Amino acid sequence: MTAKNIIPLSMVDWTGHAVTVVFLMGCPMRCPYCHNHQLLNAGQLSSEPANIEEIESEIKTTSPFISAVVFSGGECFQQFDALLHLAEFAHKLGLLVGVQTNGYYTDRIKQMIEKHLVDQICMDVKAPLERDAYLRISGVDAANRVSESLGLYELCKENEIGFEIRTTVFPDFIGSPQEIQLIAESIREIAGDVRYIIQQGIPEHAWKDMPERAYTRDELISLAQIARQFLSDVRIRTKESGEECV
Ligand code: SF4
Repeated sequence: MTAKNIIPLSMVDWTGHAVTVVFLMGCPMRCPYCHNHQLLNAGQLSSEPANIEEIESEIKTTSPFISAVVFSGGECFQQFDALLHLAEFAHKLGLLVGVQTNGYYTDRIKQMIEKHLVDQICMDVKAPLERDAYLRISGVDAANRVSESLGLYELCKENEIGFEIRTTVFPDFIGSPQEIQLIAESIREIAGDVRYIIQQGIPEHAWKDMPERAYTRDELISLAQIARQFLSDVRIRTKESGEECV
């Protein structure tokens, strides 16, 4: 068991790059808004997951048309051996490697950096970095782990690895002005002046019942302006307008 599915060609998962996205199965968190919840348990799958050879074949076929492979999930660091193997495979084809992670597996992220097998890390900070807040949003007390993963930014800078942080927001669930302020303050304090993206959560894609409406673009701009008090590169991502600097 490795991956649920693969997007052979995506233009939206790494700004400026055409990429193949590989979704690896499994995740230690249980966010109610998860839009890839079929990846959380093998029992939920409607079809057989792809194995390593099939993924390698897909990457090789699309390699003339892409510049990078992005590993997502689920949480791609949960299947660590498969992730390392596929990252090495992509590098050997001359492709860059990106990961989208929830920051839970700090040691594994560090190992991948030290092995020079990653070029871009996009990390979720799902809630203020406090036990109760993380438990409420992700179902797991992961605040300390995510804080430690944020602290890897210095190592990323030394190794010239791109690093950005993202928070997905839903009205009346996560993303109040106070929560965004706490998150932005923590990013600044622990990592430094890192790019921060506030993403519009889409209720109809959520795993479980979520508030019926999404934040509007104007509401996201207001939240981004709060984060801008602490971070210089803050962006919003919406369904209607894509990524915008604020
Ligand atoms: S961390 Fe991501 S993949 Fe895991 S449950 Fe949350 S939204 Fe889903």
